[in-house]
Amino acid sequence: MSYRNWRVTERRTETPSVTTLTLVPEHGEIPKFISGQFVNVVFPHLGEEAKSYSIASAPEDDFLALSVRAQGAFSHALISLAVGDTLQISEPCGFFYPEDETTPKVFVAAGIGIMPFVSMLRHEQAIGGHAQTLILYSNRSPNDVPFLNELSEHEQENRCTVRHFITGENDNTIKNATSRRIVTEDLSTANTQAPNAIFFLCGSIGFVRDMRTLSKEAGVLEENIFTEAFF
Ligand SMILES: Cc1cc2nc3c(=O)[nH]c(=O)nc-3n(C[C@H](O)[C@H](O)[C@H](O)COP(=O)(O)OP(=O)(O)OC[C@H]3O[C@@H](n4cnc5c(N)ncnc54)[C@H](O)[C@@H]3O)c2cc1C
Repeated sequence: MSYRNWRVTERRTETPSVTTLTLVPEHGEIPKFISGQFVNVVFPHLGEEAKSYSIASAPEDDFLALSVRAQGAFSHALISLAVGDTLQISEPCGFFYPEDETTPKVFVAAGIGIMPFVSMLRHEQAIGGHAQTLILYSNRSPNDVPFLNELSEHEQENRCTVRHFITGENDNTIKNATSRRIVTEDLSTANTQAPNAIFFLCGSIGFVRDMRTLSKEAGVLEENIFTEAFF
């Protein structure tokens, strides 16, 4: 896999745990990509291991954005970069995107697993599309929901309908959010509302595994389930 140097042009705090870095290549053009794809990042001083990050920006943007949740050493190194610093990034890769943009879609995400879908919604916005995608979005805390306001704007502009689930705290402050985990009935309701929709599942390995099981229980056909596990 080939890597190029990219420069940080902006840092933005999204939530207490999520930071967005805006990047431009030091040389050459921004590579073409499809919303839903990711890049690999290496930090030579942290060893040879590469970690993957979904592209948060739209293909139409003149920069690349990565939104990173602070977890271990690698993500902390990434969000500690300052404007002007450089890092090494691979070409875009992955197949987590609809083969046909017009197919009805249901996005099921947990936490930072919303990122491929943020890029897809930004792409829809850039091309003036109104796909009316249904999103089931689970988070532990109402105070740490990445892109809460942006999702609400996409909803107001008829690009999607968002159902929020808050699993960890009782002081749920998000309007119309449900204070529990996503269950089979939520997925079967989604499957009935959007017949033949493709279900895109993204989050931790455990979340994706559970949602895959529940989607099948809800009657979603195996071939209509696409998954991306963040590990
Ligand atoms: C296709 C793909 C796309 C992705 N996109 C994104 C994205 O857009 N944004 C994003 O933020 N991440 C994304 N990820 C996840 C990302 O690649 C990293 O895995 C993530 O940033 C965590 O890496 P880390 O080294 O910082 O944390 P790690 O060191 O891997 O730690 C992760 C978690 O495990 C815990 N942990 C680590 N070691 C131990 C241990 N020994 N015992 C107990 N607990 C431990 C940590 O406390 C932390 O909670 C993506 C992953 C994939 C595969």
